[in-house]
Amino acid sequence: MNADADLKKLLLWHIEAGADEAILDHPVNHYHAQAGERQSQARQPQTFKNPMKSGNMAMGMDEVAPAPASAPRPSSASNSTSSPGLHTADEALHDARSLAHSAESMEELAEKLRSYEGCSLKKTAINMVFGDGNAEAHIMFVGEAPGADEDRLGRPFVGVSGQLLDRMISAIGLDRDSAYISNILPWRPPGNRNPTPAEVSLCLPFIERQIELVAPHILVLVGGVAAKTLLGRKEGIMKLRGQWFDYASAGLSCPIKARAIFHPAYLLRSQAQKQKAWQDLLEIKTQMNSAK
Ligand code: URA
Repeated sequence: MNADADLKKLLLWHIEAGADEAILDHPVNHYHAQAGERQSQARQPQTFKNPMKSGNMAMGMDEVAPAPASAPRPSSASNSTSSPGLHTADEALHDARSLAHSAESMEELAEKLRSYEGCSLKKTAINMVFGDGNAEAHIMFVGEAPGADEDRLGRPFVGVSGQLLDRMISAIGLDRDSAYISNILPWRPPGNRNPTPAEVSLCLPFIERQIELVAPHILVLVGGVAAKTLLGRKEGIMKLRGQWFDYASAGLSCPIKARAIFHPAYLLRSQAQKQKAWQDLLEIKTQMNSAK
């Protein structure tokens, strides 16, 4: 093995262990960063042109994938993940539900989420990552949680796996002007650790409401966490991909066709699954055309 390959392996090892930030000469205490300063870095959810769009769906080995995510099941929230001193777990969940359900527009939902203090992930994140793309699109992609790049920029899927997601979306004729993209969690879990079931259940009412407000014809669940959480299933992505589901919730006038796909971070590590991912994308394209 040559020196470059050794260095790359070492870098990957660090990233998978959660050490994904370069250190500076002086320490930066993100907890003390001015709230205004942080929020000004974040983009509000809006339609934008995708600057990273490139032709086809290439999954090069020279791209470094973030750590694998294991899939938590939503369950009742526990005191350990709701903000200490402010809420009991049940109050935090109740607050999440009533804030989310009362939002009548995406702007209102973003504001309600911004005001929500029930989930302690908010305390360690730099930015809230609400969503990106066209909120009136017929297709919506939901991933797991922001990583370091998304946290820094306040936009979902802008890191390495986001660039691959953009190419996957582009392979079926879409971009962020014609699709909407969000995550189960709006705040990055520290060090990209897996979200706990309690964190997932506290954030679930917000993504459920977001789906209701976008009301797409097709919902694409990106990776096992999104698929298990929104479909309420125990099986992993291997079983859930390759088939259509009906996604329903109280605020939707009719069920939405939902399809689980491999997470791009997984595809970056598992070239062998590229063919299955391509099949899923073609199925989604066919469904899009028939829904027109
Ligand atoms: N992975 C996700 O699931 N979401 C993001 O926004 C980025 C990486």
